[in-house]
Amino acid sequence: MNIKNKLFLGIGLLVAMIVMLVVLSIVNLQVLTATEPDSPAAVPALHRALVWISIFGAACICIGVVMLAVLPGSINKPIKTLVNGIMEIADHNYNKRLDLGKYEEFAEVSDSFNRMAERLAEYQKSALTDIIQEKKYSEAIVNSIKEPILGLDKERRVLFVNDGALTVLNLKREQIIGESAYDLALKNDLLRRLIRELGQVDGNKDPLKIYADNKESFFQVKYIPIYMVPTGEKEQHYIGDVISLQNITEFKELDSAKTTFISTISHELKTPISSIMMSLKLLEDSRIGSMNDEQQMLSKSIKESTDRLLEITGELLKMTQVETGKLQLNPKITKPIELIDYAVKANRVQAERFNCHIEVEYPEKISKLFVDSEKIAWVITNLLSNAIHYTKENGRIIIGARQKDKVVELFVQDFGKGIDPRYHQSIFDRYFRVPGTKVQGSGLGLAISKDFVEAHGGTIKVDSELGKGSLFTIQFQV
Ligand code: ADP
Repeated sequence: MNIKNKLFLGIGLLVAMIVMLVVLSIVNLQVLTATEPDSPAAVPALHRALVWISIFGAACICIGVVMLAVLPGSINKPIKTLVNGIMEIADHNYNKRLDLGKYEEFAEVSDSFNRMAERLAEYQKSALTDIIQEKKYSEAIVNSIKEPILGLDKERRVLFVNDGALTVLNLKREQIIGESAYDLALKNDLLRRLIRELGQVDGNKDPLKIYADNKESFFQVKYIPIYMVPTGEKEQHYIGDVISLQNITEFKELDSAKTTFISTISHELKTPISSIMMSLKLLEDSRIGSMNDEQQMLSKSIKESTDRLLEITGELLKMTQVETGKLQLNPKITKPIELIDYAVKANRVQAERFNCHIEVEYPEKISKLFVDSEKIAWVITNLLSNAIHYTKENGRIIIGARQKDKVVELFVQDFGKGIDPRYHQSIFDRYFRVPGTKVQGSGLGLAISKDFVEAHGGTIKVDSELGKGSLFTIQFQV
């Protein structure tokens, strides 16, 4: 029986009882009024009427109570079952089915629910197959890549790893998948080095030297953080990292061959250049014979070119020293003014030639530095030489030192052409020259300067604006 019928039956029964109760009361009342109140028949008639009224009254109350108890239950139960079913679906239990056949009104709802659950189950199955297929493709791609690749989730558990990574890590796939990288790192030096840098904004950019497969290899490590926007959300969530190692052994070998080549050539060039310089000196000696004006001009030009050649070979040799890690520092306590004086003296001829006015700014009190004076003097000389070259004739240049708390600064400022902010980083790269630079040069001076300063634990920076000049500052902690 459906709820509607139950309701009609209940109300019908109740109404019928009430009607009968009213009719009975009226009939009894009539019997009572027809009977003489003092007659002996009146009392039993009254009792009978009261009994019947009580029976029908009690029956009415019972029916009402039964209806109250049964009706809400027959509505609540299927709704509860439906809610539970929906909750199960929300928990991805797509095998849940409802049977509300005995509640006629809910039969259609339960049919629809079951159809929906069936479709969701089918969809889940096909989505899962798709996901598994895609996973297989990704695994095949990752495994076909020779470069080592490792995937970690945000708890640093290993999600995937390719054969290349297994070789360099010297681990087996089954030992590593699903395991905590931190636990594995306790017994694996390479993994420890790899995860140490994870999450660091400015990770180590130096190549990693790895000894695997009986040979030494160099790898450039790349950390790729992975983010995802969960369904229904707008914000990206961090879900893990991919670590990839690019094998740069070949480039490293070529680079080292190039460095050795440059070093040998520069070294070999030094002897003939010195002999040219010597011959020039002899040529200029009036005791050998005087030169006419044209010869003097030619000899001056040969001298300038030879000086430049010597400068370039010197720079190349210095660069190879840095690249091969053969840079040796001999630090000693040095007054900053000694370095400045050296640079000014070394550039005097150039400054006079370009008619540059060099001002020295030096405070009364300043801490001494503990540096390799030869190297730092070379850096300041190079900065001052640049300032002279890249300043218009009759320019003004300030060279000096100052101290801010525990930091001593050496600086060279010019008011020349300045440097476009786009190139402020690149000018410290090897062989980089600002496009359009007409002054001759190798593009090595600032790169070597940076290496020399950083080898002392110092920093070098530039502040410059086009057309307004440049300020190069070197900082050392004292
Ligand atoms: P080089 O001077 O031999 O080219 P550097 O490494 O010393 O090499 O300088 C790199 C480049 O930076 C230069 O080619 C030049 O374009 C730019 N530069 C350096 N110093 C200055 C300066 N004081 N003013 C303008 N440009 C400069």
